[in-house]
This record gives sequence, structure tokens and C-alpha cells, in this order.
Amino acid sequence: MSSQQSTVATVLTGTPVVPGVAYAPVMWPGERPELPATGPDLPEAEREAEAARFSTAALAVAGRLRERASQATGAASEVLAATAGLASDKAWIGTAEKLIRSGSPAEGAVAAATEQFADMFTKLGGLMAERVTDLRDVRDRVLAELLGRPEPGVPVPTAPSILLADDLAPADTAGLDPALIVGIGTRLGGPTSHTAIIARQLGIPCIVGLTQAGTVDAGTPVLLDGGEGTVTVEPPAAEAESRVAEAQRLATEVARWRGPGRTSDGAPVAILANVQDGASARTAAERQVEGVGLFRTELAFLNRADEPAVAEQAALYREVIDAFPGGKVVIRTLDAGSDKPLKFVDHAHEDNPALGVRGIRIAEGDPGLLERQLDAIAAAADGAEASPWVMAPMIATAAEARSFAAQCRARSLTPGVMIEVPAAALCADSVVAEVDFVSIGTNDLTQYAMAADRMSSELAALTDPWQPAVLRLIKITAEAGAAAGKPVGVCGEAAADPLLACVLVGLGVSSLSCAAGAAAAVGARVGAVTLQQCRWAAEAAVAAADPQAAREAVRRALG
Ligand code: PEP
Ligand code: MG
Repeated sequence: MSSQQSTVATVLTGTPVVPGVAYAPVMWPGERPELPATGPDLPEAEREAEAARFSTAALAVAGRLRERASQATGAASEVLAATAGLASDKAWIGTAEKLIRSGSPAEGAVAAATEQFADMFTKLGGLMAERVTDLRDVRDRVLAELLGRPEPGVPVPTAPSILLADDLAPADTAGLDPALIVGIGTRLGGPTSHTAIIARQLGIPCIVGLTQAGTVDAGTPVLLDGGEGTVTVEPPAAEAESRVAEAQRLATEVARWRGPGRTSDGAPVAILANVQDGASARTAAERQVEGVGLFRTELAFLNRADEPAVAEQAALYREVIDAFPGGKVVIRTLDAGSDKPLKFVDHAHEDNPALGVRGIRIAEGDPGLLERQLDAIAAAADGAEASPWVMAPMIATAAEARSFAAQCRARSLTPGVMIEVPAAALCADSVVAEVDFVSIGTNDLTQYAMAADRMSSELAALTDPWQPAVLRLIKITAEAGAAAGKPVGVCGEAAADPLLACVLVGLGVSSLSCAAGAAAAVGARVGAVTLQQCRWAAEAAVAAADPQAAREAVRRALG
């Protein structure tokens, strides 16, 4: 009895974000430098030199981050470049220098200037608030430089390790070596946080919202399952090793998977990619995906001060269409606002921008913006091998869908809408009636159904698309599509979860669009089960009381 008890390992649970299984000892990131206490004012004569000491340190940190950005690729490179941008930000440097010139030592000035900016970013909310972690990371790097200490962050381990942390600065995550950091678990962070996005790109199994992470000491062997969202503390070694071997066998199947997507008994399920410009569409085309299920056009224009002319827009859309000659390409009209404000769109101040004038709602006050974008899409479609489908974000009512569809049809474009507002899902029958297809945006659908900000790390357990309320809204939408004989796709992060993908197929979803890097795992999982198994899995998931029970029930249903 006692020997049996000693083999029962503790299992911690969190939100799974990158599937994969790893078994290794735990490591924690190094301590961050302590924030300096406020000291006496510097003598006048030393202030200029102190300001120069600070700016040299900030520029050294920016230079190192830029260097790392140039060696990385994709999201990791972008995140490192953006962090380097913060370290050389004129306004931030200027604020710190001003504090130094009024007597503060450089260390104190860095800390104070950072907090001023952090307050401002937090008040702005959305994406800006998310950058507070980056800003504090830059502060710590500059402090370490000033104090002559090693740059803070994740030390390079000598043997494969599983990294546990409260939260990881994007610059830390972007620099990880997947051969040495074989798993990541963070106490904070949501499924759409930077840590999750970069871990996905690097292919490192990852769990966020692992609230009990702090109970595991460095050096403890753990089995991390990024698909299940579990960390088993000190599991029997032989069992853990066989789980890793089984996961590697599955990974080989994923590597071997070739499209087109279909269940093992031949039911077609289109596996598509989410893209943001011509380059990402061409990268996706090198994978096994059949087309684009979501082209987030607003992401192509995030840094633009002025609205791009129709001809320029058309050329960009055509690049994406041409990446998949004759294939399916779904272009989404600008989803500006909330966490993705565009400089050339007039966003009045809103206390609650996620519930404000974003997506299709912008067309109410500025109809020309949508009209010009549809003109550009129509121009891009002219002469293309296959005409793109066009969909509107943030549709809440059938009337909005009707008006959008009329504008598309007037330009011979195939109209669809995103179902990401619970009202549209609940009335999916009347919304579907207005358009030729719908695509479910599970990121926002989950945020709005659960009344939980998708950016919030504390609410990761609620912003989980396995929540029964979300699955029921998807079911209603899929049934409405089936009744009308119109395709229903999913293009939120839920489509990147291989297990959930089987549930979505069982609910009647006919296309899954996700990050191109996640597509093969989804295609291989769907290809390993029959349509009937997917239907059983869907029934089991919808009947489950909570996400954890749903995952377990689906695993059983799929055998
Ligand atoms: C979604 O909400 O699921 C979606 C795909 O749109 P975005 O993530 O761009 O808001
Ligand atoms: Mg959305």
C-alpha cells in the first residue's frame, strides 16, 4: 500500500497551447535585478556623464536585441525587433535623460521612466497594455547593463530542461533553443499571449495558466503534456519515457502528413492557413495547406499612417490570391479597433473598445473605407484563377450580414461573415441565410461568450474554447450551416488544436484555418479518425461539464 502511494505523482493542470510531450528536470529563469532605491541627487557636474552612461547602456541593449532579431525568423524575429525598438524609443530615453539631468542616478531614472510609460500603456489598454511586460523586460536588461551584471532572462541549460516561469518576456521566449528547452509552463499568460505564439512557432510544447507552477522546485523531473495541459511531477521514469516515445511516433506521423485534409474514411476537411500578407501566404503555400481561411487584412496595415490607395491594396490582395493559384482564399475586411487600432481609421476614445466600434461597425460612420476595400478586392480578383471569398468581422445581426452581402454581390464577390459575436451564433440561421458561407472566430466568440478578455492572463481558464458555452454556440452555428447547405469554417485558434479540430469536424465544420505551422498536426489528427468518431467526440465534448472533462471524454471517444 505504502509503496503504491509513493508512485502516485502530483498532476498540475493549466491551459494547453502547444501540443507535445517532454520529460526533463525543471529550470527557472534567473532572478531579475532588484529595482534601485531612490538615492541622493547627483551633483550637477556629473549629470551629463550619467545621461551618457544611460544612453550607451540602452543602445547596447537595443543593439544586442536587434542582432538577435536578425538571426531569428518569423514571429520570434518580429518580437525581438519590437523589443529592440522599445529599448531605443526616443520618448522613453528622453524621459529617463530628463530625470537624470534633474539629479536622478541612471538606475533610478530607468525605473521611474519605465513606470511612467507602463502606466500610460496600461491606461491605453489592449495591445499597448500587453507591451508593459516588454517594457519592464527592457528596463531589467538596461539595469543589468548599468550594473555590469549578466543580461537577465533564461540561462542556457547544459542539458534538456523544462522551463517553468511566472511569465516570460517575449524577448526571452524568442531566444529559446528547442533542443535545450523541451517544454514551457507559465503561471500567467493566455493562449494568445506572445509566449504562446512564439512557443508555437518554435514547436516547444507549452502550457500557460499553470497556476501551481511555483510548487515545483528547479531540478525536479516532470512530464509536461502540452496537448493535455498537464505537468506530472516526478512520474515513474519508465512510464514518462514511453509517453515521450509515443508522442515522438505521433510527431513522425505529423511530419509525414500530406494534404488534402480528410478523415480516415475520406470525408473532406479543408486545412487552411491564417495569413497577414503576401510573404506569410507564400510561406503557408510551402506547407501542406490547401488555401487561406483567414487573411487578416488589418495586420498588413498596422503601421500605416494613411489609408493605402485602392491600387496598392489590390496589389497586396492579389499577392495572397496568387500564392494559391486556383485555391481557396478568404479575405477578411479590416477588423480595426479594440486591440488592433489602425492609425488611418478614426477611433474615438472608448472606455471599453472590445465592445465598441470595431470591425464591420466602423463602416457605419465611415462607409467609404469598406467600399474602397471591397473595390480593391474586386480589382485583385479580376483575372485571378479563382475568385476570393470575402468576409466581414464582428457581425452581430442578420441585417449587418445582409448589407455586407449586398455590397459584395454588387462587385461579384462571394460574401460571408465571421461568427464571433454570441448574438450572431445564437441567430446563426438568420445570419447564414444572408450569405454564402460563415467562418467561426473562436478567439472573440470565446472572449464574448465568457465575458473574459482574451488578453488577460488571469482569465486563461475562461478563455478556453473547450468551454461548454463556446462549444454549444459552435454547434448552433454548424447546425444552421448544415440546414442551409452552406459551408461553416473555423478560423480562430481552436482550429489549431488537433483534438478540438476533431470535435469541430464532428459538429459539422468543413474547413479549419490556423497558423500554417500547426496545420500538419491538425491534418494528421483528423486523418487518423473517422467522421463517425468525430461525431461521437463532438457529442461527448458538448455534454461535458467543463474543459478538462471535455478533453478527457473526447480522448476516450477517439480511442
Ligand atoms: C477570432 O476572433 O477568432 C478571429 C479569428 O479573429 P481575430 O483573432 O483576428 O480577432
Ligand atoms: Mg476576431
